[in-house]
Amino acid sequence: MTSQSTSSGTIPVTVAYGDGIGPEIMESVIRILQAAGAPLDYQVVEIGEKAYLSGHTSGIPTEAWDTIRRNKAFLKAPITTPQGGGYKSLNVTIRKSLGLYANVRPTKSYAPYVASPHSGMDLVIVRENEEDLYAGIEHQQTAEVTQVLKLITRPGSERIIRYAFEYATAHGRRKVTCMSKDNIMKHTDGLFHKVFDEVAKEYPDIQSEHHIIDIGAARVAAMPETFDVIVTLNLYGDIISDIAAQVAGSVGLAGSANIGTTVSMFEAVHGSAPDIAGKDVANPSGLLMGAVQMLVHLGKADIAEKITNAWLCTLESGIHTADVFRSGLSEREVGTKLFTDAIIERLGQRPTSLKPVSYGNAEIHVPPVRNRSPRKELQGVDVFLDWADGDRNPDRLGTALEAATLEGWKLKMITNRGVKVYPDGLPETFWTDHWRCRFLPASGRDIVFADILQLLSAMEQGGFDVIKTEHLYTFDGERGYSLGQGE
Ligand code: NAD
Repeated sequence: MTSQSTSSGTIPVTVAYGDGIGPEIMESVIRILQAAGAPLDYQVVEIGEKAYLSGHTSGIPTEAWDTIRRNKAFLKAPITTPQGGGYKSLNVTIRKSLGLYANVRPTKSYAPYVASPHSGMDLVIVRENEEDLYAGIEHQQTAEVTQVLKLITRPGSERIIRYAFEYATAHGRRKVTCMSKDNIMKHTDGLFHKVFDEVAKEYPDIQSEHHIIDIGAARVAAMPETFDVIVTLNLYGDIISDIAAQVAGSVGLAGSANIGTTVSMFEAVHGSAPDIAGKDVANPSGLLMGAVQMLVHLGKADIAEKITNAWLCTLESGIHTADVFRSGLSEREVGTKLFTDAIIERLGQRPTSLKPVSYGNAEIHVPPVRNRSPRKELQGVDVFLDWADGDRNPDRLGTALEAATLEGWKLKMITNRGVKVYPDGLPETFWTDHWRCRFLPASGRDIVFADILQLLSAMEQGGFDVIKTEHLYTFDGERGYSLGQGE
């Protein structure tokens, strides 16, 4: 990306010192950045615990927003989210408000210097950061049933998948693996997989493959060295990035980038570690690796390489903070300040046993997503009912609905938790109080929204408790809704 620079040639970046160990590790990281000659102008914002406790429920005062939005990069130390009191997660607020759509988490093992059974592990998880179940749209609909809306969009999928392929291209990586659960969720995860296949064709030099998320996650745990770049949906990405960090044996060493179209945020994967705050024992490596991602993003790959190589030399020398120190493997246990000094002393050196890094000037450009306007045709409606009468026998519900509904509509089926229970359901199926009733126009006539309103009105008059509807559409003639299990 093109970086904004000031008249002095420095790039303005927003910095938040955070809470707990935040100030110590940020001080360490800025010392290293300065010693390495990073041309950055640090503009400090006060966010986090103090802001929360002074009444900003998001943890971010207005003046901090202005600075964060003005600069292209934001280096953020971990923040303590106060318990209770309606405080919102600052990370989620920043991610969503600024459209930070790509969460990029490189995970690598540094064996034998940091204990891990997977010496060859070097993968990057590109996690979709805005959609999926994290839209947070939840409702309780009946006494027994709650639901969450899982939103997967074509532009959101296309943008993150393109980002993954562009990242692989820019960083000389050879393979992109998509993970989804499209054997079950054919329309949501199915869209993600379909877009992946479409985009993959545009990158013939990069291998592409797809794993169902369950076996994919198992393989990340058991054979992480077989993966290169993984692109996946928000929830799966959240889970597998923790699995990957755990098997690398180095949760405290991982950095994370949250990339947006204008602003991007860089941080450590770990939290504010209040148990060790102020003791000069925290490992600054996670935040340092976040800062390295920021330098590459700002087009300063040479300085990023210099820092990472000095850091690898320090790990190789056996100079370790307490969290990584293992007798037999490590030479010397040091605190945050001495670890920082050791990295600064090694700037300009390259590791001899661990592989030196070479980032290249990795400019990642994700072209705007294509607009589509397929032909959309209304085919019918799913009407959801709250119904808990007597023994809840679905044959009774079906018969009552057929008697009450308007002419011109046909009750196609009733499902309970997705399983067809009418007509011809099985008595073994468990019935909750939440029923989906699928209505299609009788004799294939064309329908409009007003027809659905008439149907709902007739049902209301018939005494049915309608709790929601979902329209059934085709798009360019293709069915845009799932069939009931057993339909
Ligand atoms: P944590 O990551 O802060 O700590 C977990 C354990 O790892 C602790 O034992 C801690 O001492 C250790 N640890 C973490 N970072 C370390 C480091 N750099 N060096 C050495 N040891 C380290 O997780 P937690 O205790 O669950 O959360 C503490 C606070 O951090 C909470 O308020 C939570 O909301 C917040 N948090 C913030 C972020 C963020 O700002 N991105 C992320 C996660 C958690």
